[in-house]
Amino acid sequence: MLGEVRASAGARTLRYLSFPHRSDVQAPDGWKLVGAETIAAAETSSLDVDAVMITGEVSDVMMDRLFERLADPLVPVVTLHGEARRGTDRGGESPWGAARSIIERREELPQAIRQSGRVEDVLLARMFTRKSDLIPRYAPSDRAAVIYPVAGRIDGVAEAANRLVDAGLLTRKFFDRLHTCPSCSSSALNVREECHKCRSGDLYVQEIVHHFRCGHQAPLSKFESPLGHALTCPKCNLKLRHIGLDYDKPGSVQTCRSCAHTDDSNAVGFVCMHCEGKFDAARVPVRDVYSYAITAQGTRMLFGGQPDVVSQPPNVFAVLLHSAVQQ
Ligand SMILES: [Zn+2]
Ligand SMILES: [Zn+2]
Ligand SMILES: [Zn+2]
Repeated sequence: MLGEVRASAGARTLRYLSFPHRSDVQAPDGWKLVGAETIAAAETSSLDVDAVMITGEVSDVMMDRLFERLADPLVPVVTLHGEARRGTDRGGESPWGAARSIIERREELPQAIRQSGRVEDVLLARMFTRKSDLIPRYAPSDRAAVIYPVAGRIDGVAEAANRLVDAGLLTRKFFDRLHTCPSCSSSALNVREECHKCRSGDLYVQEIVHHFRCGHQAPLSKFESPLGHALTCPKCNLKLRHIGLDYDKPGSVQTCRSCAHTDDSNAVGFVCMHCEGKFDAARVPVRDVYSYAITAQGTRMLFGGQPDVVSQPPNVFAVLLHSAVQQ
């Protein structure tokens, strides 16, 4: 019995969804806009298209709904309008060509990989179809502060990638070390200098004045008198005349506007922008972020080799306690 043979992506007409729906999109030859029936069907089942082209303003909620409906995590979602969104593919100069390339490379993959739901398989398949390493990018609006655009909307990307490193299918390179909130794990943290005594961030720097004659040392404000501009020693009441001759300024101190505490150093603290928690630097853990490249073994695995990913919890992505910035 003859099976139905599907033409390869290079030969057949590719079906795309315009999101939001627009019928005036100028698609090149070889592309066909899916009609309302496909969109209606997606209300109850998954969306069956070759590509999604973002053709107008779409709210975050609608983007979330789109990705929920898109059962196949390898389908290209390319932005024709506006800036890149979380989970979308880079269209660059030629968005239609970029989408077609992803579809063609997807069809090179064995069916077992295309249909696999394992996060490691999806990650490798996305790297292959996007012809890209897994490279992190800073994303201030994201809780993790770093995203991997090539990974699309996969959850637990770094953990999965580190398991693939353990299995020899990816190699990794250090990208950055991020601090994470001990309370909510966000990496959107404000680091600041704080008062040792009351942890306020409202500090100012004052010069220290050293009076040679009596040996008194104190912040400049203690030598200033409201009556004139001459500095007067608060200990011996003599006027200070010439810097270098009868006094000098050997350094500076930090003074807190909140509690008036003066110290020769400041504490370092973090404020979490998500949960508003305040933490001493010594209590804030760090996590290392890497970029990843696929190995020859990783490519072999994609094309039918046996996956041998270790299944124990990741220990490479260990959270290390950050030592105090100032001992
Ligand atoms: Zn937090
Ligand atoms: Zn204070
Ligand atoms: Zn004095």
